[in-house]
Amino acid sequence: MALNFLLDLLFPKFCFGCHKIGTYLCSSCQGKIVFTTTPLCPLCEKPSPFGFTHPRCKTPFGIDGMVVLGDYSGILRQMVHFLKYKNVFSLGETLIDLFSTQPSFWFPKFDFLTPIPLHRSRLLERGYNQAAILAKILSMKKNWRYQEDILIRKLPTTPQMSISDTNTRRKNIKGAFVLKETKMVENKIIGLVDDVATTGATIFEGARVLKRNGAKMVWGIVLARSLPNFSI
Ligand SMILES: [Zn+2]
Ligand SMILES: [Zn+2]
Repeated sequence: MALNFLLDLLFPKFCFGCHKIGTYLCSSCQGKIVFTTTPLCPLCEKPSPFGFTHPRCKTPFGIDGMVVLGDYSGILRQMVHFLKYKNVFSLGETLIDLFSTQPSFWFPKFDFLTPIPLHRSRLLERGYNQAAILAKILSMKKNWRYQEDILIRKLPTTPQMSISDTNTRRKNIKGAFVLKETKMVENKIIGLVDDVATTGATIFEGARVLKRNGAKMVWGIVLARSLPNFSI
């Protein structure tokens, strides 16, 4: 694509691990990423087939499962961080392509993907929503529909990253999202995309709003999550 070519000239690619020019991730540095090899239940963070929420962990409007590319550390952490502050579409593509490198990644048959939205004020400040870029790329690659503006962020919340306590994070995000139109989500299987989930509070809250409004199934899809028991 001509635009990608131009962007690559403006922002030359270099490997996040070893700084080799020409790629965002060389094959030897890709080998250093801690990919999810044992999918975990998003709630109790214990092994679960494909990342489904265990029946015992399910709540009426709770998330149904989550796909996590890898651990939020090292090169993956640097790449995800860069995505947030530099609008580099092809870096998003490099990251999304990593989902096809591991046999452990499985996705439900989604009706559409939608991103965790930014509040309007943050969107104006940053110029783009990195979660939307990721959702767009993934939906293109997998031939799923992409749907923007399903959830609206009505509160300009404090960034979750700046809060360390789980309960405070949950309170911070509670009620932050509203649904634009119920008809869009009724009986749908939805993939909710974000770049990072730590406690998962943001994605759980987004899923809750979608399920409350009639979504059949909601899965989270994130590039990285830091989990204490990731090495299982
Ligand atoms: Zn490298
Ligand atoms: Zn569980």
